[in-house]
Amino acid sequence: MRLANWAAATDPGRRRRRNEDSYVLEPPLFAVADGMGGAQAGEVASKLAAAAVKDGAGDVEGLIQEANRRVHQRSLEDPSASGMGTTLTVASVEDGNVLIGHVGDSRAYLVRDGSLEQLTEDHSLVGELMRSGKLSVEEAEQHPQRSMITRALGTDPDVDVDVFPIEPRAGDLFLLCSDGLTTMVGDREILALVEEKRGDLQALVKALIKAANKGGGEDNITVVAFELDDAAEGGSELDETAVVAGDPDEEDTLTEADEVPVVPPPAGDTMVVSADELAAAYEQEQAVAAPRRRRRLLWRLASFLLAVALLIAIAFVLLWGLTQ
Ligand code: MG
Repeated sequence: MRLANWAAATDPGRRRRRNEDSYVLEPPLFAVADGMGGAQAGEVASKLAAAAVKDGAGDVEGLIQEANRRVHQRSLEDPSASGMGTTLTVASVEDGNVLIGHVGDSRAYLVRDGSLEQLTEDHSLVGELMRSGKLSVEEAEQHPQRSMITRALGTDPDVDVDVFPIEPRAGDLFLLCSDGLTTMVGDREILALVEEKRGDLQALVKALIKAANKGGGEDNITVVAFELDDAAEGGSELDETAVVAGDPDEEDTLTEADEVPVVPPPAGDTMVVSADELAAAYEQEQAVAAPRRRRRLLWRLASFLLAVALLIAIAFVLLWGLTQ
């Protein structure tokens, strides 16, 4: 198994002037980081994490622990960066294996045999509510606190990292992305774009960013893609197809003139929650979701009864017409 192609692109989206996402495209190492924090701290956090991955020696877990150490250290030293943090999703192709390491709500996906599989679990409030069966997929997509993450790099001296291997097959395509893609573009559309553009990963990452902007572009969008093939098969040289971030010719990037004025961070802005806040949010979720579910149920019942009444009325009119 060998790396056949790779590409990456990032875009601030349509609502934010700054881009707090960073990525790493240093085969066999790939990563996406989505920073958060006041002022420019989010940018600092994701850049520090990406730099730690690039410099990194050691395994995926070690890279992520080092990234955590650097971000946390800076947040202690620099008052303007206090409380900053970042997600980090790393993929490393080693000895024919793909190792994924992950903290936060950026995601890794695998496209294999025409289906899209999310490899990482979101370390987010809605992710935890979904896994415990308290929230459906539809409810999660609409949840006002869907940007709240429960694990991040930099907020604590130690961090729990999910690390797992994927045994790759020839033709596997891996995607790493920030939530600016996945909150704007559904799985089905992502898969359709992969199938359509998979011969050209540069076109693919651009198309995914364009789709996220079309869907609203409410957050920074970053996509890293890489593909594996059978080492025995091809003879072509590795073909790097990175898109330069912020290319002024990109049609999917708004120009300065079109740019939407910067708005204060929306209520759904990314933040990390403590265990207590998480527990409080569970209760709030129960208080909010139950009446909402009841209302939805009542509305469905009313619509159904109305439809039945309408059908009966039509039947009467038809019968009356026939008997005249
Ligand atoms: Mg984000």
